[in-house]
Amino acid sequence: MDITTEAFILKSYDLKETDKIITLYTGDLGKIQAVVKGIRKAKSKLAAALEPFNHIDLTLYRKSQNKLFTITQAKINQSLYKVKEDFSRIVYGDYLLELVDKLTGVEEKNIELFNLLKSFLFLMEYKNAEVVLWCFKVRFLKLIGYQMCLDVCALCGKEVRPFKKGDDWKIGFSPKEGGILCYKCRDICSYKKDISPGAIKVFKKLLEINLEKIDCLKFSNKMREEVGHSLQYFLAYHLSGELKTQQFIGKVDRYKMCSRGVWG
Ligand SMILES: [Zn+2]
Repeated sequence: MDITTEAFILKSYDLKETDKIITLYTGDLGKIQAVVKGIRKAKSKLAAALEPFNHIDLTLYRKSQNKLFTITQAKINQSLYKVKEDFSRIVYGDYLLELVDKLTGVEEKNIELFNLLKSFLFLMEYKNAEVVLWCFKVRFLKLIGYQMCLDVCALCGKEVRPFKKGDDWKIGFSPKEGGILCYKCRDICSYKKDISPGAIKVFKKLLEINLEKIDCLKFSNKMREEVGHSLQYFLAYHLSGELKTQQFIGKVDRYKMCSRGVWG
């Protein structure tokens, strides 16, 4: 029986001859893998639609006992052409797709997650792509059960007060315990770092802000670096390692710092 659903491509690789295996996140089935026959032939009608950064309508079927779906039709609903034309947007967008691929199971339908992915890929078109990615990270983590505890100590539940470290105020932060730590718990926790109260405020804002106003968030270069690194630190614990696209993010960051001096 044919199934129709909306979808985004997460990744793909070439198979024998002219076929491809594609991993997609769909509205109706969650993450799936599908084979597309003949897609690498010059006259393939599916090739243009089945590209990353297209919001597509799919028709597919699966024979019983088969792990892979077969895609028979794909129509572009909307091409995110502003992402496709901008190197830094491609890099941040690729990271977002890789993150969803890494942290989701096959055929676990989650319409909330599909809607999150859809709204953030559309935001990548015209908002600050780096902040869009940060915001996606904290909301995606919350949705899949790794919400950061940012109001009280993640370990004992008591109030957390900043402590003085050198000239700065800091708060303990642990991905292992799932959020901020009071001074006492910080001492006994093995996987932690100290971050500024300002960075915690940014995490809270990223969780709450109306997405249309995301470009109103402004940061100093120092805060931008701290928020980026701390989010990555939190995520790396759950990913058990870095994503392939992480090194490209580093390159884009360095390029921005060199070319602009001040980030805006
Ligand atoms: Zn505590």
